[in-house]
Amino acid sequence: MSRFLTEKTKKLKPYIPGEQPKERKYIKLNTNESPFPPSEKAVRYASEAAERLMLYPDPDSAELTAKMAEELGVLPKNVIMTNGSDEVLNFAFMSYCDENTPAFFPDITYGFYKVFAEINNVPYEEISLRDDFTIDLKAYDNKKGLVVIANPNAPTGIFIPLQELERLIASDRNRMVVIDEAYVDFGGESAVSLINKYDNLLVTGTFSKSRSMAGARLGFGVGCPEIIEDLQKIKYSTNPYNVNRMTAAAGIGSLCDREYFDKNCKTIVENRAYATEQLQRLGFKTTDSKANFIFAASDKISGKNLYLKLKEKGILVRYFGAERIKDYLRITVGSKEQMDALISQIADILEETK
Ligand SMILES: *Cc1c(COP(=O)(O)O)cnc(C)c1O
Repeated sequence: MSRFLTEKTKKLKPYIPGEQPKERKYIKLNTNESPFPPSEKAVRYASEAAERLMLYPDPDSAELTAKMAEELGVLPKNVIMTNGSDEVLNFAFMSYCDENTPAFFPDITYGFYKVFAEINNVPYEEISLRDDFTIDLKAYDNKKGLVVIANPNAPTGIFIPLQELERLIASDRNRMVVIDEAYVDFGGESAVSLINKYDNLLVTGTFSKSRSMAGARLGFGVGCPEIIEDLQKIKYSTNPYNVNRMTAAAGIGSLCDREYFDKNCKTIVENRAYATEQLQRLGFKTTDSKANFIFAASDKISGKNLYLKLKEKGILVRYFGAERIKDYLRITVGSKEQMDALISQIADILEETK
């Protein structure tokens, strides 16, 4: 740290991404990436776009935005494309929170919300999940400020039915609600269908998980035109060229390849059911995940111990260590082969620790 760093930044605790090890080839089940390569169309379009890298990209990403809007069944003026969905989430904190407008989100959820609040000097309250890890939406009823809900939630994978979310959104039309749908393609139901009804709703999504494009950094926000204008204002005040040429082209390629996308989502859902059943057979308790990960705990071994032993055996999973979830691991759903390797290593570890 240099002696010039401000007090505020000194205190900032950055988000800690899952490990991306370089020293050894692991079976990576720790950051919810897809086990499948991106669509061939995405790869081809990106490489064609690379030939024009001397030119700035279109700051409006107009072609990609139009394609995305078509996919979502909304208009281009309802959509903003961003550098990962992390960027649109940060834009939402920048647009809709300040010292007097706090943020509210669950105590167990995506770790970045807290960081966005802190870096933007926004007070925040973390609202406890119920004992069964479900979100108690009623607890948000009298909270004035920005409400951020990941649906399905991370790292629990638990999904809230749209009807219940709509009640939350409708209960106070003078409060902005952000629904982070990073995992919605694996069995949830999108709140995008509500954006024309509520001008206090922003839905965010990403190409990182279901579209196998974590390395491209592409996300989006969907809302009424006024909300999109707000977010565009922040974008043009920070980084107008937030989506690079290759990524925009890859995004269009991915959206043009519906069949491949559907097939991969279906496979993940099947592999999730398979691995969940196998884990339960080994005595694990699991949440009802609608995401591309499984949240699981065994009373035969601590979360930390199992995480370390799996790592020794070449399998990386995510261990958080927070008090309420210290027995749990978040395990990304990978290919059938990866799930078989995971289950057989866990069976061995449980046998060894008997
Ligand atoms: C992965 C994830 C994101 C962000 O993904 P990007 O790669 O920035 O698009 C946002 N929210 C949740 C809950 C996530 O798990």
